[in-house]
Amino acid sequence: MAKQLQAIRGMNDILPDESALWQRLEAVVREVLSAYDYQEIRLPIVEKTELFARSIGEVTDIVEKEMYTFNDRGGDSLTLRPEGTAGCVRACIEHGLLHHQTQRLWYAGPMFRYERPQKGRYRQFHQVGAEAYGMEGPDIDAELICLSARLWQRLGIRQVTLQLNSLGSSAARAAYRERLVAYFTARHSELDEDSQRRLRSNPLRILDSKNPALRPLLAEAPSLLDHLDPESLAHFEALKALLDTAGIPYEINPKLVRGLDYYCKTVFEWVTETLGAQGTICAGGRYDGLIEQLGGQAVSGVGFALGLERLIAMLAANKPAIETAPHAYLIMVGDAAQRHGLALAERLRDQVPGLRLRMNCGGGGFKAQFRRADTSGAHFALILGENEVATESVSIKPLRATENQQHTLAGDQVAAYLRAAILEKL
Ligand code: ATP
Ligand code: MG
Repeated sequence: MAKQLQAIRGMNDILPDESALWQRLEAVVREVLSAYDYQEIRLPIVEKTELFARSIGEVTDIVEKEMYTFNDRGGDSLTLRPEGTAGCVRACIEHGLLHHQTQRLWYAGPMFRYERPQKGRYRQFHQVGAEAYGMEGPDIDAELICLSARLWQRLGIRQVTLQLNSLGSSAARAAYRERLVAYFTARHSELDEDSQRRLRSNPLRILDSKNPALRPLLAEAPSLLDHLDPESLAHFEALKALLDTAGIPYEINPKLVRGLDYYCKTVFEWVTETLGAQGTICAGGRYDGLIEQLGGQAVSGVGFALGLERLIAMLAANKPAIETAPHAYLIMVGDAAQRHGLALAERLRDQVPGLRLRMNCGGGGFKAQFRRADTSGAHFALILGENEVATESVSIKPLRATENQQHTLAGDQVAAYLRAAILEKL
């Protein structure tokens, strides 16, 4: 036998028995985004490497060690997108979508990061991102947070908390960074190896460390919130007031810094304890400088990204019942029945909205076909034998109901019968 090939580590197949849950999640996400009038933008999966280096930041985990970067045949350095914001901003600038107008956009699709695969952390994973451009005030930050809260509500997800912080302006952050470097330098021996490296490259990220040994050191570190510039402080206070009015609870987490360089002012994460270590299901914030940094005009941006694998894990734990079995299975015995059966199946699909009809393929006698009908999980067997063809009728046998007498209907009544059964949820 030829050697079997396997998928790349950290890149998962989504199998047929999982895809119904994905489809439901994607449908709810789409519906909620539409309720806030966000429009979809579809972006390439591959971009120039430079785009990510210039936006995410050279000394972030993503750019330093997580990107799938390769040279194409023409020698250009390209990268599988590790996130969606950079490409979205690039597209908006390129197509002039930010000239004297606001935008509310969303995108969905796979992202790629060379991380250590573990539960909730993969090398190909899926995000839905929402981004809003051209709005400076805290109202749009609040809208995005309300939108995400509505998603949890619509999905029946309860165990999530909103963590909120402000990173201030880049000037305020630079001043804070100096204070922080002084603090950590004075207590250098308490830093772990990773943090010592970050102290030189990206000291704010030390605050984000998950190492419990660092907790006392971090607890006493100067707080970012004490170093906010007046404008960022006012923005933050106004956002909190809006969330209070909307009845959305939040926790202030002064250690929430986010892993990407482009954020300023508002940052937030929705976190759950139910998923173990990978507990962030949605993360976002404001990135007012990014559009200019990528060659556009100075317009502000704010957005978030959802991690779909983590949401799926939460939904799967709630075990939602999703009906995917066919409504009906068409059994056909005899040459004439085979011929008429195909046309009947097509007609029923025309006439019964939402019908899931599986047609028997590969022939077989009544017994074999009934067995297949049964294993398909179908609610009804539709039976076409010689008699039915001769009398232009169809026999119906309920396969799941306790009352499962077979009965025969005139051919033109089958559609109405199935329509009624589907409406009554079978
Ligand atoms: P983390 O701290 O977990 O590494 P991050 O800050 O790198 O997250 P973002 O870039 O903000 O994550 O991505 C937004 C969301 O996408 C995350 O909150 C998470 O739900 C999801 N996500 C990020 N990386 C992965 C991954 N490797 N596998 C699965 N989901 C991921
Ligand atoms: Mg990460």
